[in-house]
Amino acid sequence: MSARLIDGKAFAAGLRRRVAEGVAAFKAETGLTPGLAVVLVGEDQASQIYVRNKGRETVAAGMASFEHRLSAGTTQAELLALVAQLNADPAVHGILVQLPLPRHIDEAAVLAAIDPRKDVDGFHVTNAGLLATGGKGLVPCTPLGCLMLLEDTLGDLSGLEAVVIGRSNIVGKPMAQLLLGKSCTVTIAHSRTRDLPGVVRRADIVVAAVGRPEMVRGDWIKPGATVIDVGINRVPAEGGKTRLVGDVAFDEAMRVAGAVTPVPGGVGPMTIACLLANTLSAARALAGGTIF
Ligand code: NDP
Repeated sequence: MSARLIDGKAFAAGLRRRVAEGVAAFKAETGLTPGLAVVLVGEDQASQIYVRNKGRETVAAGMASFEHRLSAGTTQAELLALVAQLNADPAVHGILVQLPLPRHIDEAAVLAAIDPRKDVDGFHVTNAGLLATGGKGLVPCTPLGCLMLLEDTLGDLSGLEAVVIGRSNIVGKPMAQLLLGKSCTVTIAHSRTRDLPGVVRRADIVVAAVGRPEMVRGDWIKPGATVIDVGINRVPAEGGKTRLVGDVAFDEAMRVAGAVTPVPGGVGPMTIACLLANTLSAARALAGGTIF
């Protein structure tokens, strides 16, 4: 048996199209252009690529993109001043501070300074709290994208056993909250979990967000389960090159699971598409004068 491949790239392209249509309708209705400000501090290579891609996709969706590239020596006070300026700027509806920040800057303090209504990454405690209490806020992009792929694959998720491996604030915890919100029975596994293979074997839905190449083996997976691989790991390949692999042993999973996301081409493209969707949501909410 071979699992169905969940084509995140195609789904994300459809979502970006729908966002672009929404942006056009919003402009026609309000005369406003949704704007996303992305702040990058320092020279981190991966972050530079993410920021460039985000800017390109934002413009392609018909929105305004504001890039702020600051030197690695930027002080926390300078960064907070920029966040305050963006909070007050009516042309900016979404603010994203690219993580990780240099060590001398307190990440939590910066995230807390972002207006929750413009927090398109969904990392502000107000948005985390709204998600945890079933309120309506801005939801972190990667787990939101995973949920969309799961609902597209499985339809109603109610009653399904879901195991989320990883408990970070940006993926694992919000993912678990979203699945709970869809009435799954949710287990959150982490580095201290005993018998991780046994826990994963119970799952109808496995979301792996660990950062360990091909850790989840085929014999951990319940036959027919849906596997969402969030991991992005660069590993050595032939000829001195490198390649990307997920947290799941893909070929093994394909022989057992019902459906699997590939890496690359699964969850990755959904993250930027959801960022655009969140920016449009934020613009709509700000224009309507409601909190969310
Ligand atoms: P973190 O490092 O913040 O969290 C990793 C989690 O995995 C932790 O909760 C940790 O447990 C757990 N973990 C580590 N080792 C094990 C183990 N041996 N067994 C079980 N659990 C373990 O990572 P992120 O959540 O930020 O990211 C996870 C992965 O997802 C990374 O590969 C990252 O690159 C990728 N990612 C992909 C995105 C995309 O767009 N596709 C976006 C964001 C992330 P503990 O808490 O106990 O330490």
